[in-house]
Amino acid sequence: MTLTLTDVTLTYPDGDARLTALDHVNLEVPRGHLTAVVGPSGSGKSSLLAVAATLITPDSGTVRVEGDAVTDLSRRDQARLRRRRIGIVFQQPNLLPSLTAAEQLQVMADRPAAARTRALELLDAVGLSAQAARRPHQLSGGQRQRVTIARALMNDPTVLLVDEPTSALDHDRGATIIDLLARLTRERATATLLVTHDLSHLTRADRIVEMNSGLLSGEDRTPGAGCAI
Ligand code: ADP
Ligand code: MG
Repeated sequence: MTLTLTDVTLTYPDGDARLTALDHVNLEVPRGHLTAVVGPSGSGKSSLLAVAATLITPDSGTVRVEGDAVTDLSRRDQARLRRRRIGIVFQQPNLLPSLTAAEQLQVMADRPAAARTRALELLDAVGLSAQAARRPHQLSGGQRQRVTIARALMNDPTVLLVDEPTSALDHDRGATIIDLLARLTRERATATLLVTHDLSHLTRADRIVEMNSGLLSGEDRTPGAGCAI
């Protein structure tokens, strides 16, 4: 398994008590598979991605990337692992205003030598060849989100974590982004975890899991298996 969460619990301070955002969560995502995460607002979906991304260390439990327990690493080694093996796409495209689309990707490069070639190849893969020299204000919302997806793939990650990438887009543009993520997941063989609020996106997923008050369920439900959420 490429991405494995084992018995992960995460709490946040909440007045005098603790709020349980992830409650003994178990999850496995293989390479080339897209797992969709659904669930109400506040149920722990973004916390799940943040823990999988090593941005937050859980209270207990283990996160493994390709068998390596990343929860045990120092913060510095976690940062290195994020840069090399984990691609992250946030809800809002967080691009640098002064850089062109190609430069947004190039600055992420772990190996600067072939960065320009790789950036242009990835922009082509997300349908933005003609926009490589444009800055964020010259791109549409959907195009900006495509740049962030291409940027997340810059160092050929094994894990791709995507948090509600279509929330600022209309339905059709959102569906196109999900199609793109499903295609890239197969082509680039990433273990992809996608948080989405749009149920029509779920047909593109290999598997659907649901968060409720920090509890993950539905691990065995797959689209077409006759028990869609
Ligand atoms: P979702 O992405 O499903 O909306 P989140 O993972 O953002 O859910 O939040 C899960 C729960 O944890 C919510 O009750 C939220 O208010 C709480 N929470 C999230 N981040 C923090 C934080 N940094 N400090 C305290 N509570 C938080
Ligand atoms: Mg969220």
